[in-house]
Amino acid sequence: MNTEISIEFFPPQTPEGVEKLRAVREKLAVLKPAFFSVTFGAGGSTRERTFSVVKEIAAEGFDAAPHLSCVGSTRQNIRDILNDYRSAGIRRIVALRGDLPSGTAEAGEFRYANELVEFIRKETDDHFHLEVAAYPEWHPQARFPSDDLANFVRKVKAGADSAITQYFYNADAYFHFVDEVRARGVDIPIVPGIMPIASFSKLARFSDACGAELPRWMRRKFEGLGDDTDAIRAFGLDVVTELCERLLAGGAPGLHFYSMNQSALTLEICRRLKIA
Ligand SMILES: Cc1cc2nc3c(=O)[nH]c(=O)nc-3n(C[C@H](O)[C@H](O)[C@H](O)COP(=O)(O)OP(=O)(O)OC[C@H]3O[C@@H](n4cnc5c(N)ncnc54)[C@H](O)[C@@H]3O)c2cc1C
Repeated sequence: MNTEISIEFFPPQTPEGVEKLRAVREKLAVLKPAFFSVTFGAGGSTRERTFSVVKEIAAEGFDAAPHLSCVGSTRQNIRDILNDYRSAGIRRIVALRGDLPSGTAEAGEFRYANELVEFIRKETDDHFHLEVAAYPEWHPQARFPSDDLANFVRKVKAGADSAITQYFYNADAYFHFVDEVRARGVDIPIVPGIMPIASFSKLARFSDACGAELPRWMRRKFEGLGDDTDAIRAFGLDVVTELCERLLAGGAPGLHFYSMNQSALTLEICRRLKIA
């Protein structure tokens, strides 16, 4: 199958983590991803580490897409980072607002991702392909879905080329979101973000925090599996593979994998999907 995929990493904190991520990339390379992306801690907390991983990926001959979150930053901070990325030959950025850790006072000079997209376009014209975030189950801070949709459309009109979604396990939410944005004149690709399931308890905690819904039938089934890691892995692979199949059959333009710096589950899902 000729499905375009991309794969996301976070920047490791230790030299061992950096080494391990090199080995993970080597394994994932067989999938011939369109790009590897690397997350960025809000407020610039991972600035150097993100840049260092991105440079390694580019040196290995892959397209590398650093994430860039603007909350807590000044225009000059962002300008400096854009200059670094440009001089390293980077052509794609995932442009985000980010979330400051609670208790952080400094909000910086950007409020929302649409302002970052606008700024990047003003500063660098069409140099970067800009990805933005999309939320088929709505962003947790949005008061109404209609506000979130209007804000998403504003972000796209500011100059985004494509979008990657928050992960979800309900394909209908994605299809509904795509219909809604198409009805508002947005025609950019909206690539579903896919979270393979390694540990159900971790996933449940994380999902509550980021507003992703774990459907009741899935939650109950995972809970019933207790500590049986093999059964959790097997059920998780079935659920996520079926989700990907449905999304692709329904017209999703590709898949973006949240790898959590691991290769095995992404590789297995792609093997079942006959990708690469
Ligand atoms: C694919 C993907 C990758 C991510 N990578 C990272 C990462 O590397 N680092 C990181 O820190 N976080 C990352 N995140 C998380 C993201 O930063 C958070 O979800 C954050 O809360 C919102 O970022 P955003 O860019 O979607 O914000 P925005 O698009 O700015 O939206 C945030 C909220 O504000 C509302 N809003 C937007 N514009 C306006 C406006 N003009 N007026 C009023 N309200 C508005 C929206 O409806 C929404 O509720 C990622 C998320 C996704 C989906």
